[in-house]
Parts: sequence; C-alpha cells; structure tokens
Amino acid sequence: MANRLNTASLCSNSSNDDLMFEKILIANRGEIALRVQRACRELGIKTVVVHSEVDTDTKYVKLADESVCIGPAASRDSYLNIPAIISAAEVTDAEAIHPGYGFLSENADFAERVEKSGFVFIGPRPDSIRLMGDKVSAKDAMKKAGVPVVTGSDGALPEDPKEIIKIARAVGYPVIIKASGGGGGRGMRVVHTEAALVNAVNTTRQEAGAAFSNPAVYLEKFLENPRHVEIQILADEHRNAIHLGERDCSMQRRHQKVVEEAPAPGITRRLIDRIGARCVDACRKIGYRGAGTFEFLYENGEFYFIEMNTRVQVEHPVTEFITGYDIVQQQIRIAFGERLSIRQRDVSPRGHAIECRINAEDPFKFTPSPGRITSWHPPGGPGIRVDSHVYAGCVIPPHYDSLIAKVIAYGDTREQAIARMRVALSEMVVEGIQTNIPLHRELMTDARFITGGTSIHYLEQRLAQRSGH
Ligand code: ADP
Repeated sequence: MANRLNTASLCSNSSNDDLMFEKILIANRGEIALRVQRACRELGIKTVVVHSEVDTDTKYVKLADESVCIGPAASRDSYLNIPAIISAAEVTDAEAIHPGYGFLSENADFAERVEKSGFVFIGPRPDSIRLMGDKVSAKDAMKKAGVPVVTGSDGALPEDPKEIIKIARAVGYPVIIKASGGGGGRGMRVVHTEAALVNAVNTTRQEAGAAFSNPAVYLEKFLENPRHVEIQILADEHRNAIHLGERDCSMQRRHQKVVEEAPAPGITRRLIDRIGARCVDACRKIGYRGAGTFEFLYENGEFYFIEMNTRVQVEHPVTEFITGYDIVQQQIRIAFGERLSIRQRDVSPRGHAIECRINAEDPFKFTPSPGRITSWHPPGGPGIRVDSHVYAGCVIPPHYDSLIAKVIAYGDTREQAIARMRVALSEMVVEGIQTNIPLHRELMTDARFITGGTSIHYLEQRLAQRSGH
C-alpha cells in the first residue's frame, strides 16, 4: 500500500490526467455517502461504502461497487469504529478513505491511523485537523496568521474565579463561554451579568468534559447582532491555495444551520476578496491541505473568525452552483497529490444559490421523526438540485442525524433563486414521516428573509413568535 502514496506524489508532476485513485472507501452514510460516490464515479473511481446493519438495504449502498457492513446501528459500533473501517479498506483493497462530514471527518487520530495503515486520507494532514479541531489553538493560530478573531480570553480560561471575572470585565458583557473541543452547536453558554459568570463557566466545563473529553473552555465577546458568513477554501500540498467565496449561514436554530446561501446578500466582492485572501494566506502559513471552511461572525462591516471546519460541509452545493467547481472532486484530486488547476483569477461567482436542509422532524416542535417514508416526490426543473439518499419505502433510522435531503435552488439573481425554491418546495411531497418542509415554505415568503442579511438570532426570534400563536 505504501507505494501507492509514492505513485500519488509522482503523479502530481505528471500531466497525465488518466492517473487517479482506482478505489475509494467512503466512511459515512446518507446523502453525503451518495454525494461522494457520485463524484468518484464521474472520475472513474470505484467505490466501497461501509455501512451499519440498519443501512444494509439502502439504495445508495447497493449503488456502490462494493459494500462492507461494519457493525450494528449505534454509531460508536459502526461509523465511529476505526478498526472496522480500516479492516474494510484492507479487505477491499481501497487506496483512499473519504470521511464525509460529521462522524470521523474531523478526528485527527482517525486520519493518522488511516495514513499509518498505508491509505490516503481525503482531507488535511492529522496535525492540521488537531490544530484547528481545538478552538483555542485554532483561534490562536489564526490570530498569529493575521486573521481577525472575536475579542476574548487569551487561550483557555484559568481556574481562579477572580481571574475569570477580570477577563470578562475586560472583554465586556455579554460574553459567551465556549468549549475548546465543542462542535455541532453544543458546549456554549451566553452570560449577561457578572453574578452568573463563574457558575456558567463551571457548568460549561463539566459538560465539555463529559461531552468532548476536554474540559477546557474559553470566553469571548457575545456579538449581539452578527451574521454567520464563511469562506470556502481549497489548498493543495504544493502550497497553492484559493478561496471560492463566501456562504451566508445565518438562518440557524440552536446554533445549527437551517438555510444557507451564496453569495452573502449585501456584502461587497471587495470585502470578501480581502478576507478570502487572509484565509488563503493562513492556509499557506499552517501548511493546510484539502478543502476547508473559515467560519466568521460578520457585524458592522467587520469579520471575526470563530472556527475552521477541516472537511467538506453540508452546505457546499451552494458554492458549487455559483462557482461551477465540484468541491468533492477537488478534495479527491488534492488528496491524490495533484496541483490545484483553479487559479484565484479563474474564480468568478455568478448568480445566486440557496439551500434548504430538509430534516425528518416535527416542523413545530423539532422533535425527530424517524420511520418509513411512504411517498417521496422530490422537486425538479431549471436550477434545482436535490441531494438525497432517500426514496419511497425507505426507513429513516432513529440513530443518526435527521437530515434526509438538501434542496438547492440556483438563479441568475437572488429573487429568481428564492422563486425557484418556493416552487420546488411546493412540489415536494414526503409522506410517512414529518419534515420541516412547512418551515422552509414559510421562510421563503418571509419579508425579512426576502430582504436578506438577517442576523443569526432572526430565526429563533421568528420561531418564538410563531409558537406564541
Ligand atoms: P460549533 O463548532 O458548535 O458549530 P461555532 O463556534 O461555529 O460552534 O459557533 C456556532 C454558532 O454559535 C455561530 O454560527 C453563532 O451563531 C454562535 N456563536 C458562536 N460564537 C459567538 C459569539 N462570540 N457571539 C455570538 N454568537 C456566537
């Protein structure tokens, strides 16, 4: 296996386009497992999909060239089971492993095990994942690389309550306490007054220790009205790096994204190019390789870095629509050792794209709604893309994330993208389980959303009014 890596690096200097991985193992499930499979097939690469017992009979597993059952339904026994995944790669003779998002995608130990076993990890080097996976070290590295960050504590908070109080006073209330190892919108607590500070720090520490095996917490200024704007980057191992512009992911519920769009309404290209150039520069400074996203809060014309995701993101299709580049294929090419074939001046975003995350959940209470889908009619037509692994008759298991589909609409203008999304959502039928399609239908006719540029708090405020009726 080891000489495959050598082949990859030799290929990078060659102009022979025919050289590519022959077989990739996909260590994920659901829509992203299918998305990666499609990218591989287009590149002529064979696929191996690993799956848990409950996913055995799904269509996307059957579509793969090979599949390996790696354990029972519970994620820790299957999609998080590192030895089982490595064994599956060995028995199927796969050359590389694509981790998708979630599960093991940002686990540096997994990336290391993959590489030590002689496979290529389709993602950054383990040390980059480690550096960016810890929010304290990520923020520190970005500050040093010249990326603007949210004001806050210098690293993790000390034990001494008096010191903590001093730090919070200097930053100014309200503040947000965040777990260094946190993710998925968990491990955060907003504090408005000094009286509540020390207790909040202790509780967040305890929760972080239990949930992320890392009790370190830090503190930063809680921005009252920001937007969430993130920059997509691609970097190869030959120190070439570019950015593919931004996405606005401000429509959030419980710090989780619900609707995403690109470009971000009302932010000038000049400003995006300026912050994008900082991100690209930071990638070179830390020797980053692969696709990645710099997440920022944006308030009063300023960007503040919050964290970096070292993997493909759920919302990557909106960027694909407006730039025309296939981000998953770029990840694969970079992992193979190729040089980036896109230069910054080639990137010229066009039109507007919006993504609605369709979840199997109660549209009002947001409780998960697993079960059998009895009827499934996805939308279509000009400018509509549906990324989904589901179909009529399939069962949504209760063990995993509730995302069942992503509907993405593209238009020459934002108005056209919204209009197309409205039509798409009106056509879409999912029966047998509950989904949040009714919420998306409401949002696409919401006056504030139509104007654009709402803050990260808007959706929660709107939902609070809705339940008041
Ligand atoms: P996670 O890794 O859990 O996604 P992030 O650090 O990316 O955590 O933050 C998730 C969301 O939490 C942001 O998109 C934003 O809505 C909110 N948030 C995080 N930091 C702040 C802050 N300093 N001020 C206001 N909101 C914040």
